Amino acid sequence: MTNGEPLKIAIASGKGGTGKTFVATTLFHTLIKRGLQVTLVDCDAEAPNVLEFFNSGKIWEEEVSHQVPVIDTEKCVFCGKCHEYCEYKAIFYLPTMKVIQVMEELCHGCGACSYACEFGAIAEKPVSLGVVSGFLINENSTLIESRINIGVMSPVPLIKAAISKIEPGIAIALFDSPPGTSCPFIQTAARADFIVLVTEPTPFGLSDLRQSVETLRQIDKPCGVIINKASLGNRDVYKYLDQENIPLLLEIPFSREIATAYSSGKMATEAVPALEEQFLQVFSTIKMNYGNSHHQW
Ligand code: SF4
Ligand code: SF4
Repeated sequence: MTNGEPLKIAIASGKGGTGKTFVATTLFHTLIKRGLQVTLVDCDAEAPNVLEFFNSGKIWEEEVSHQVPVIDTEKCVFCGKCHEYCEYKAIFYLPTMKVIQVMEELCHGCGACSYACEFGAIAEKPVSLGVVSGFLINENSTLIESRINIGVMSPVPLIKAAISKIEPGIAIALFDSPPGTSCPFIQTAARADFIVLVTEPTPFGLSDLRQSVETLRQIDKPCGVIINKASLGNRDVYKYLDQENIPLLLEIPFSREIATAYSSGKMATEAVPALEEQFLQVFSTIKMNYGNSHHQW
């Protein structure tokens, strides 16, 4: 992180349903209440849902598209070079039948085929991938949502576009990361200064946590853990955190009040006000260890 940039915190989990969005929205709400300048980016483009928790008006919307090749079969000599260059197998090529066709849904818009074609047979056309939208929460705070079109293979361009829309000068950016440990998660985590991993104290929770930690170590990103539904399950996650020297940021016990508030789209802090102080403490710990001195908090 360089001075002048926000402190960027991604909230992630190895799988869906562990409370990642609950943590992201609660942290966002807690920081807003303190009057801090904060933007929450919903990077879960395949299932964005943070908007459901906030009353807000859309202030802008931008379509995200990429350039897809269009092959002119009059000019094409069926040399097959574009097909060879395409790493994503998006060009169907049958030289004996003189058939060549772009499969748009597999195309990543990388431009390699246009570069490869020496016969001027490839033009490009824009194809929509989805939409990135901005919502105003209050004068200090915004929410940015990425939303992929049905049938589009990769949410990564939408995630990058959404993160690039963070206003310069904002103090804190929170990313609600896509679940899993594949490319969308890596692309989100790579743009963050610190990753909060949300897990549950169960064998599945531990297995997903291990995968997330290993992935983050490969890209050299620091992380800490929030254990949700801490009163259920066993102690194996705690032992793992000790062994691996990973900070335990917070334990949230299973609470019917929290579950009821969350499932009805309310803030958990309304049901359990003590959570607010605990989330502030989590933020202070991250800020102290991974923040910079540029912003006044
Ligand atoms: S733009 Fe890239 S991904 Fe798309 S067809 Fe061409 S080489 Fe393949
Ligand atoms: S590289 Fe150009 S000429 Fe060769 S098969 Fe592809 S489109 Fe046709």
